[in-house]
Amino acid sequence: MRFEISKVLDAIEGRVCTDPSLARAVVDLAEVIRWQDLDGGRPASLLRLGMVIDALSRQLEEDSVPVYAIVHRALLSDADLTSNERMVVRRWADDGLVEVLDNPGDRMLEVADLLGLPVLSRVRFDGLGGRYPWLGQAGRVLAPVPGAGGPVFIAHVGGGQSPTTAGRSPVAAKLLARQWRCPEPGCALFGSGGGGGAFADLARVDRAPAGQPPPSLRNGVPTCPRHGARLGDAGPRPRTEVLAVRIGGMVRRRFVLTESQPVLVGRAPEQSGGIMLGQWLNDEARRWVSRNHVRFELRVGEVIVTDTSTNGSGIRPRGSMAEPDRLPLAPQQSRVLGEGDVVELYPGVQIGRADELPSAAPFTPASVMAEAPTMAMRLPRV
Ligand SMILES: [Zn+2]
Repeated sequence: MRFEISKVLDAIEGRVCTDPSLARAVVDLAEVIRWQDLDGGRPASLLRLGMVIDALSRQLEEDSVPVYAIVHRALLSDADLTSNERMVVRRWADDGLVEVLDNPGDRMLEVADLLGLPVLSRVRFDGLGGRYPWLGQAGRVLAPVPGAGGPVFIAHVGGGQSPTTAGRSPVAAKLLARQWRCPEPGCALFGSGGGGGAFADLARVDRAPAGQPPPSLRNGVPTCPRHGARLGDAGPRPRTEVLAVRIGGMVRRRFVLTESQPVLVGRAPEQSGGIMLGQWLNDEARRWVSRNHVRFELRVGEVIVTDTSTNGSGIRPRGSMAEPDRLPLAPQQSRVLGEGDVVELYPGVQIGRADELPSAAPFTPASVMAEAPTMAMRLPRV
């Protein structure tokens, strides 16, 4: 039982991040964990975050969808959570996967405003419509409520049932063009490494500085939301490109490519930060796809793909799925990824720019709860 819960919490850990390129919705964790009607269980449970993320995944018809979680500092010592859950949240905080704040105020709305993300909340945000006019738009604030087969989204404000994204605001575009440094030593959000849990440094290789969260703006000054300190400008933010993996017609995950770090994709890459596909492949595909199959690099804004496999890959120019259009990419061969081009490791195993690669198949998500089926079954059905 304990082991199974740990597995579920580990799965949820892969779905929380403060990376502006990857987060797909904003939540207040202190609110989510107390939605007792979702499962009829304990007063507070971290598993409810997993249920809400699953619901978002279903709505977006995409697997492995991460959320941006704002966490009130009091949650780290909330007696309604188990000691294991508190430890997990502290680890997320140390690793900068969530934003822990003394006074969250309207930070959730600020992040949603800057990044153009939907807010998953049951709060109505009365009186804030003047400051955040988009609160009245359909799909920007959705309340997760109990439904058959898990939470469903309804509108408390603004209408709509599907999460709507607006894109980054002009202010965010400016803020996110720079890297920022917090003067507070060991700051998990705007630090220069160090601090944190045992794997913090490993995690940071992937996220910082390109994955830094958006600064908070106080009187127009970029400020650390955690420490309230004015942030220093640490130069231009490295360029990034967001790529997506589509398997069997469904986007299984997205990842960020930076100029400092090539990314290996394959059945089970050895490199830390590599993208492992093995869990989504059938036996035949597993035999074909190499452990390290392709390498992606970002050079002066261009995505370069190099085949590192035994069996080779293919390119589908401009995403064409017509067989005669498929160009071979032989082992050790490289190619600049043109607009709309899709790399194919094996029929139906595809990688391309995230905004050019929508999910295109009937939806069968791998639930984060599926990591521990007996646990999921124990959650009462509503
Ligand atoms: Zn800070």
